[in-house]
Amino acid sequence: MAEAQTTFPKFHNEAGKKNVRVGAKEFECIGALPPHDHPHVYLDMGEGVQIICPYCSTAFVFDETLGPTDSVPPGLLYADGKLTER
Ligand SMILES: [Zn+2]
Repeated sequence: MAEAQTTFPKFHNEAGKKNVRVGAKEFECIGALPPHDHPHVYLDMGEGVQIICPYCSTAFVFDETLGPTDSVPPGLLYADGKLTER
């Protein structure tokens, strides 16, 4: 039997915005782009609609009108558009 897998995107906040909107409730924040990234931390908004990264203090706000890898400002998805599996 296959194990259930969850995929989630990674976002960076290279521009240092205070708030960003994302279309995923579960994701990883890496802070700035490598090599200046902070430890890649898994964040889960759970029942809420926002979460603050403990490393870079970015406030991520869920926006249901966005796709799971989209962000406002756009282009914060890290790397090649691939989703990470866990
Ligand atoms: Zn962060």
